[in-house]
Formats: sequence, C-alpha cells, structure tokens
Amino acid sequence: MRYNAYSQHLIEKFGTRVYKLPVNLGGTCPNRDGNLGWGGCIYCGAEGAGYEALPASLPVRKQLERNMAYIGKHYRAHKYIAYFQSFTNTYLPLELFEENMRVAIETPGVVGLSISTRPDCINDDYLDCLAKLASGHELEIDIELGLQTVNYHTLASVNRGHTLAEFVDAVLRTHRRGFAVCAHLILNLPGDDELDVIENAKLLSALGIQYVKLHALYVPANTRLGELYLRGEVRMIPLEEYVQRVVTFLEYLHPGVVIQRLIGRAPEENTLFCNWGTSWWKIRDMIVECMTERNSRQGCRCDYLNGKALKRFSPGRA
Ligand code: SF4
Repeated sequence: MRYNAYSQHLIEKFGTRVYKLPVNLGGTCPNRDGNLGWGGCIYCGAEGAGYEALPASLPVRKQLERNMAYIGKHYRAHKYIAYFQSFTNTYLPLELFEENMRVAIETPGVVGLSISTRPDCINDDYLDCLAKLASGHELEIDIELGLQTVNYHTLASVNRGHTLAEFVDAVLRTHRRGFAVCAHLILNLPGDDELDVIENAKLLSALGIQYVKLHALYVPANTRLGELYLRGEVRMIPLEEYVQRVVTFLEYLHPGVVIQRLIGRAPEENTLFCNWGTSWWKIRDMIVECMTERNSRQGCRCDYLNGKALKRFSPGRA
C-alpha cells in the first residue's frame, strides 16, 4: 500500500474489521444560527455535511442498534465506531453532550467514538467530560476537526467563521487529553493552489495529527457557492489536477498519519458539481495509479521536521 489506510489500521488495532455507524444528533452549527455567522460556509447544504444518517428524531441507542443490525447482517461485523457526523456535534449543552456520549459508549459493540465538530466548538469542559466518560473503557476516540485548509485567507473567503489559530488550539487541547485528532481537508477550495496543499500536509505532520480525511469540493444547489458557480465566478480545477494535488499532499504528509478517506462520497441529487461526475472509487484508483507512476509513497517528501537545515551536520538523524 502506498499510503497508510484506515481500514488496515483498524484491523491491526482491533484484530477484525470495524465499521463506522453514523449517528445524527440534529442540531445546527454556530456558523449558521447567528452565534458566529449566518448561512454557514458557502458550500454548506441543509444536511450540514452528513448524508448517510438516520433521522435525528431517533434516540442515539436506536440509531446505533438499527445500523448495527444492517451492517452486522451484511458484513458479519461485531465491532463499531459511533460516528457523530452531521453538523457540529459538540455545539450543544454540556449535559446533553455527556448523555449522548454515555449512551454511545454503553451500547454493546461500540469500541470507539468519532466526533465531528468545528475547531471553535471544542473546549476543556467538553474534553474533560469525554475523558471522564471514557475512563475505564477501552475506546478509540477521535475528534474530527473541520479545518478544510491552512490558508486563512481562503477560510475567510468561504466564510468558515474560524481561522487557523482555532484549529491549532483545538488540536493541542485534544491531544493533551490523549484523544486522537482527525483533520478534514478540502484540497480544491477556490483560491488554494499547490503551495497550500503542501502546507496543509506540513502543518498536520508538525502537529502530530493521527488521522486525515480528504474531500473534494462539491457544489450543492441553493448555496452561496452554487450561485457563484452558476455565474461562472468560481472555477473547479480539472480532475487530473485534483489527483496530482492529493498525491503531492500524501508525499509531504508524515508516513505515520492514517488516511481515513481519500475522496468523499456526496449525493449527486441537488448538486451542481460533484466529483467530476466520476465515481469515488475510480478517483481513488486514479490517485493510487498516479502514485505508482510517480513512484511515490506517503511521506516520501516529509523531510522538513525537526530542524531540516541541521541535518547536514548529523546526516543519519531522521
Ligand atoms: S461548519 Fe459544517 S455545518 Fe457549519 S456551516 Fe460549515 S459546513 Fe455547515
């Protein structure tokens, strides 16, 4: 394998296949409800970036059990990670957050939690609460932080409502509790170029992030991005260029970082542009083929940490 794949990581860690089960808490996002801003990121659709979940009206335990019944039957699975995916899963009162996490942790078969949120929606109280709940349990816990890009000018132009500093702060606090961090990135945001792609990889490596999830930008209808796209004011880079960007990103990324996803799946309905009209697995294959052509592997250009300029004086040092 030319990159460090999540499926393999889970097999090595748990000795069997482990499946992520989406849990939908409903709710909203401070970038949509007026707390930090209105309308959200320019590409945010009504679903808040979660698509495969059951209705939020179902209790957490029921959602998990229903998904387990389906996945368990079809894939003979026994171990699961409860994946709080849609919107901002820590943007709710602490007591409610605690109750949701407790229910998930106590559901038989759950061996981990993955909690998706914004970098400005995690703090010491929520992390301490999670640490208390998790103590005494053998759990794989990661906080999935939507960064999207290290370029803070781009973050402003897509109306993320946070900058790079909030991401760094959230990573440091999460790591202090011993939880893993998964960074979510979009490598083809309008305005970003190859330099940003490289800096994304370098920053995540320098911060010691455990997981990365990549997603190509898609354009939902009825969003601000949709309007710009229809007016021809944003340009989507060609698929071949996107593939090259992913490979460059992987080359600069530390080899120990686990790749949870190389390309996202988004619904084609109600989208004006989605994955170049190409299936996700075909794009994944193109990325691997490109790595083979370039004879590259994840981390093959990760030579910049720990005082690069001093390496001439101690050539054997990593
Ligand atoms: S952070 Fe996520 S849920 Fe919030 S506005 Fe942006 S895409 Fe939507």
